[in-house]
Amino acid sequence: MILPRGPDAGGRLLLVGGGHAHLFVLEGLGRGRFPAGVQATLVAPERLHPYSGMVPGLIGGRYRPEEVVFDLETLARWAGARFVQGSAAGIDLTAEAIELESGERLPYDIVSFAVGAGPSGTSIPGVGAAVPVKPIERTLKVGPELARAVEQVRGRQVEIVVVGGGAAGVEIAFNLRARHRLLSSAPARITIVDGHPHLLRDRSAATAKLARRALNESAIGLRLGSEVAEVRDGAVRLAGGDELPADLTIWATGASAPALFSRAGLATDGDGFVLVDQTLRSVSHPAVFAAGDAATLKRYPDTPKAGVYAVRQGALLCDNLAAALRGTPGSSRAYRPQRRFLALLNTGDGSAILSYGPVALWARWAMVLKDRIDRRFMARFRRAAE
Ligand SMILES: Cc1cc2nc3c(=O)[nH]c(=O)nc-3n(C[C@H](O)[C@H](O)[C@H](O)COP(=O)(O)OP(=O)(O)OC[C@H]3O[C@@H](n4cnc5c(N)ncnc54)[C@H](O)[C@@H]3O)c2cc1C
Repeated sequence: MILPRGPDAGGRLLLVGGGHAHLFVLEGLGRGRFPAGVQATLVAPERLHPYSGMVPGLIGGRYRPEEVVFDLETLARWAGARFVQGSAAGIDLTAEAIELESGERLPYDIVSFAVGAGPSGTSIPGVGAAVPVKPIERTLKVGPELARAVEQVRGRQVEIVVVGGGAAGVEIAFNLRARHRLLSSAPARITIVDGHPHLLRDRSAATAKLARRALNESAIGLRLGSEVAEVRDGAVRLAGGDELPADLTIWATGASAPALFSRAGLATDGDGFVLVDQTLRSVSHPAVFAAGDAATLKRYPDTPKAGVYAVRQGALLCDNLAAALRGTPGSSRAYRPQRRFLALLNTGDGSAILSYGPVALWARWAMVLKDRIDRRFMARFRRAAE
């Protein structure tokens, strides 16, 4: 990578994935924060990208689909970037090019990945029968799949299993309950299954206790400390041998890295996520940047894989990509993750559980706050593209 230096120096900037941080980069491109000659391209598998904060509310019937998605093509056009619908299948680090699944090759001077993560536990037999919530656009299928299951059981109790007792699994379970109430007067049994013995193990004990109470009030069952051994058509088999009937299985497990990075020979952490320094630059390949769930900070490897962090990295990634294209990487900013983050879990009944450090509370105003924060985030990038 030999780039001309100076404020108007150009270069090919390739943005792979429509993750949160790239929304900020597109905004920066549109607002002229990059050298004038830059040729930017965004590659994303889908034109419409859902905002994860509002996805549980979409499932629960609070929001309409068009309220929770960004139109990446429109945003890219406004930013002066080319939009390519596709998925990166390989990285040629020597030739500095990305290979798409379609076979097309896209050369770059600087490439940035905001490709999120995939679901973990995908080697479990039959898992293909479950509905995954990663990549994030797969969540758009959860509501329609519930409607299909309700239709199929023709008035008998519908059996729903949510695999994963983290924030995503818990919020989805609450909102499946809410959506089911809108769809049918027949009963629904909803059970959260997790191999770990603790619910919401990344949050405080007070949050987990409150969530248990709320789940109980929503008649949502828990099978904690139970590994899933197999997903079958109509059932989930646990490692102990028990079978849970399942007309619908949601796969809301933790994050796994795309194979792309380690296959290419990029430096990764032990799980295959791109290892980056505090400027979000690959520690092994200076032409490569990564942010959000796809990246692990070498200095802060335990930073949670959550949208909040991906968002905080966005403006900094934008500045640092611009500095790299100007040939002035010395002016890059260093990212330091915050120690705690505010989580607001939508409980599907017009309320939310607020969790911050040791503090936990469950209130309607917490949902009002969540709604305001999420709508403001959506509006920021929608307004930019208008
Ligand atoms: C239901 C649910 C609710 C959540 N709620 C919250 C919340 O309230 N707060 C919070 O902090 N976190 C939340 N999360 C976690 C959050 O969604 C993730 O941490 C966050 O989406 C990661 O953002 P990202 O920017 O890294 O990438 P993502 O938002 O995951 O986007 C990555 C995009 O890249 C695309 N992509 C993948 N592979 C390729 C490829 N090879 N080529 C091109 N594109 C590719 C993907 O399809 C995807 O569209 C939630 C998660 C779920 C499932």
